[in-house]
Amino acid sequence: MHNIFFNLPSSPAFVIDTDQVLANLNRINTMRQASGCKVLYAMKALPLAALLRVLKPHVDGIAVSSLFEARLAKQVLGEEVSLHLTTPGLRADEFAELAQLCSHISFNSLEQQRRLQALAEGYSPGLRINPKRSYLHDDRYNPCRQYSKLGIDTAELQNAWPESVQGLHLHTLFAAHYFQPLIETVHSLLPLLKQHGKLKWLNLGGGYLYNSITDQTELLALLDILHNDYAEQVFIEPGKAFVGNAGYLISTVLDSFISDGKTVLILDTSVNHHPEVFEYQTRPYLFPTEPETGEVAILAGSTCLAGDIFGEYRFKQLPKIGERIMFCDVGAYSLIKANRFNGYNLPDIYQLKNGQTTLLKQYDYADYERQWLV
Ligand SMILES: *Cc1c(COP(=O)(O)O)cnc(C)c1O
Repeated sequence: MHNIFFNLPSSPAFVIDTDQVLANLNRINTMRQASGCKVLYAMKALPLAALLRVLKPHVDGIAVSSLFEARLAKQVLGEEVSLHLTTPGLRADEFAELAQLCSHISFNSLEQQRRLQALAEGYSPGLRINPKRSYLHDDRYNPCRQYSKLGIDTAELQNAWPESVQGLHLHTLFAAHYFQPLIETVHSLLPLLKQHGKLKWLNLGGGYLYNSITDQTELLALLDILHNDYAEQVFIEPGKAFVGNAGYLISTVLDSFISDGKTVLILDTSVNHHPEVFEYQTRPYLFPTEPETGEVAILAGSTCLAGDIFGEYRFKQLPKIGERIMFCDVGAYSLIKANRFNGYNLPDIYQLKNGQTTLLKQYDYADYERQWLV
């Protein structure tokens, strides 16, 4: 695989490895089959049509966050695909179209539900609830933070449960490597659920790396309890678990120099092709993995921002100008957030399938012009 990327005809490039996506699906499907739960793909992680088509036969629908996502999912996957929507940003002027496109809509607040639910028919109405059980240390992506805008406080719902609502939705975590938070959170909700009849559906959201958590025993037990007593259907809607480890960012070294004694390599990509690197100051993994010993270089992007830096990385031998640098595990929340800051083009998009790469999309000056020639 290393060689394929090394010989990719263009750079910078984003590669989606659809064989890896299918491997991820296998894990998720084991749980789906063992538990009878339904699986949706949260397309905001990577709304690439080619990916949606690969996933289509293996998922029960798509989780969307907006009108554009809903339209694209329908356009690519056809009328029969079922769409589940939740967003704090529901608009009255879009609601009729959304209700036509989406089979399930979870209102984010009681106020939103009161104002919008009756504006349309033909969908299953639900509520996004917020159990306010926090397992994340960084409030920037913690839905259960204090004063959260995401979902109805379950305490508030106690005496205000609208009878017309058919389902509940919760999504409380990001990139969890174990199921304990979900199990504890759902158990904390059971007293509330007991007060009402069996729900039509309960959506447990995303936020878990279902593809890499091997021990599913406790989760399966939980899903069993839910199916037996609390909900006719249980959904999960992971995003990153489908695509996170299936995406690569390929770049080329453009320049190499020493600054205050450290080697700096300038790449033909930047944090603008993976903004979470800058937003959360994360350091993406190099592919292939870094050696234990060797020389160190700072990998930096090509924009004017001083902090446009991927991090310090170790190499057996320092890469030279013209050589490829590759990051892995960047399939989710990267390309969708990418931008053309400084006028640098977006990466070319390739699909990797059966060991072969195919170019899916190449942006050019005309795309930049279309956005900015106003
Ligand atoms: C982001 C999001 C998801 C997907 O989250 P992952 O962490 O990618 O699994 C699912 N549901 C909702 C409501 C979300 O906001």
